[in-house]
Amino acid sequence: MNQSPLHIGIVGAGPSGCYVADALGRKLPGARIDVFDRLPTPFGLVRGGVAPDHQGTKNIARQFERTLGKEGVRFLGNVAIGRDISCDELKAAYDVLVITIGALEDRPLGIAGENLDAVYGSGRFVAWYNGIPDGRDLDPKLDGKSVAIVGNGNVALDIARLLGKTPDELASSDLCAHARAAFAAARIEDIWLIGRRGPLEASFTTAELAEFGELSQVATLVDAAALPQQVPEQFDAEQRKLAEKNLDVLKAYAARGNQAERPLRIHFLFNAAPIEIRGEQRARELVLARTRSENGRAVSGGETFVVPADTVISAIGYRSTPLPGLPFDDARGTVANAEGRVEPGVYTAGWCKRGPQGVVPANRADSLAVAELILADLATRQASGKRGGALIDSMLAQRGVQPVDFAGWQKINAVEVAAGQGRPREKLTRREELLAASRG
Ligand SMILES: Cc1cc2nc3c(=O)[nH]c(=O)nc-3n(C[C@H](O)[C@H](O)[C@H](O)COP(=O)(O)OP(=O)(O)OC[C@H]3O[C@@H](n4cnc5c(N)ncnc54)[C@H](O)[C@@H]3O)c2cc1C
Repeated sequence: MNQSPLHIGIVGAGPSGCYVADALGRKLPGARIDVFDRLPTPFGLVRGGVAPDHQGTKNIARQFERTLGKEGVRFLGNVAIGRDISCDELKAAYDVLVITIGALEDRPLGIAGENLDAVYGSGRFVAWYNGIPDGRDLDPKLDGKSVAIVGNGNVALDIARLLGKTPDELASSDLCAHARAAFAAARIEDIWLIGRRGPLEASFTTAELAEFGELSQVATLVDAAALPQQVPEQFDAEQRKLAEKNLDVLKAYAARGNQAERPLRIHFLFNAAPIEIRGEQRARELVLARTRSENGRAVSGGETFVVPADTVISAIGYRSTPLPGLPFDDARGTVANAEGRVEPGVYTAGWCKRGPQGVVPANRADSLAVAELILADLATRQASGKRGGALIDSMLAQRGVQPVDFAGWQKINAVEVAAGQGRPREKLTRREELLAASRG
């Protein structure tokens, strides 16, 4: 490295963007680091994905807040790359560009009836209850007795648990007011949690699975005959540990007595692959093919059955959004990259690099590894004369885009926390409200 300051642009202020900013800030003390986000608020899915009743998980935001508040780091919220500023413009402005935009688009189920009313991808549904401005007006139909949730990961569990909690059980969450009202008005009696494969292949974490046993109004229904007695030999040590612990919880659910009085039944349905959503205009039932697990894959023998489903929510994974000016790997739904390198001077980390897997801390190791690559590449860097944030600031001003800076986020935060009145916060959910709060 032979000149200073070095200009670094990071697109996406979620966990990955914050981890990269932190790592590069420590190793390159004179660098100017700009972290952009399309939303007026930082922290990505920590604010907009992690369940509102899991406040402990959200505490990590304090660490990210320290990073964004550091000398040499700027937060530029309310700036969507691809809309307000192009990737080519960022490449012209910054010596190093890191793309950490996550994976926000729902993978489709790819079955007939998917476009009926009352069918939602979990990304949209979660954005709605977590108060992300562009998901705010989803207004999902929760007026029927049955909800089918397709997917066997923690997101499916989050949605089922939130629908299963009473208003009292949600009192210490930061579930948004509009979602609290919708959940309180719902009269759901049956939630079907549907996995294409068996209980051993479910990617639930055990702590989340076990939470259903603590919900006051929820009956947990599992067909004991569907549960294998033991975990097969071919599972590796890590898979085995998870599968055995999950199996213990499911066996305990299957053996649970005295559930008849509970008004809301959660049915854990394994080896059931969705093949059609039926209904006139809106969903009413879900047709499933019975499957068996063979070498970790779901294989159907042709037998089908139907569950009632006035609402269908799919939680089967996400894809990243292609950004014009950057290569995209359509098959994987990620920014095309080799170990985080996209093209000279451009890098990627997190869910948009490796796909939508892994909890928040998993992005730390990934981000640190990409920061190391950047440092190695910078060792042979020539003087670039790039202008960094000064160039971007003038473009934003010309285009009438007003970024929300870190002080603006702190003002939003103060307004939300004050409005919480006993809750962690009451989120502002409209872009105009957020922008107004950011200006004080
Ligand atoms: C519903 C749900 C619940 C989860 N619950 C947990 C949990 O309980 N515990 C846990 O550890 N992990 C949880 N995770 C996983 C965790 O959220 C992810 O591991 C993590 O957020 C991925 O970080 P990221 O920075 O790669 O992406 P993201 O968190 O998605 O951050 C990407 C950021 O980029 C911004 N962005 C996108 N496009 C643009 C653009 N064009 N211009 C500017 N900015 C842009 C987005 O607004 C966002 O802020 C959950 C995930 C989901 C979906």
